[in-house]
Amino acid sequence: MERRIFHCGTCGYHLRFGVPRCSRCYRPTRLYNRKGFWWALALMVAFVGVQILRYTI
Ligand SMILES: [Zn+2]
Repeated sequence: MERRIFHCGTCGYHLRFGVPRCSRCYRPTRLYNRKGFWWALALMVAFVGVQILRYTI
């Protein structure tokens, strides 16, 4: 299992991936630490990929 450590942008606290808030200062974490962001990114890449395939074939 891969384990990535993210740092809080405000207090530098070590955060686990996927947490929307820092557990020390309760500030919202950065966008790339959210699972939803990566899901949206993956969907967007897949969508754009399909569009490119549609117009190149
Ligand atoms: Zn923090």
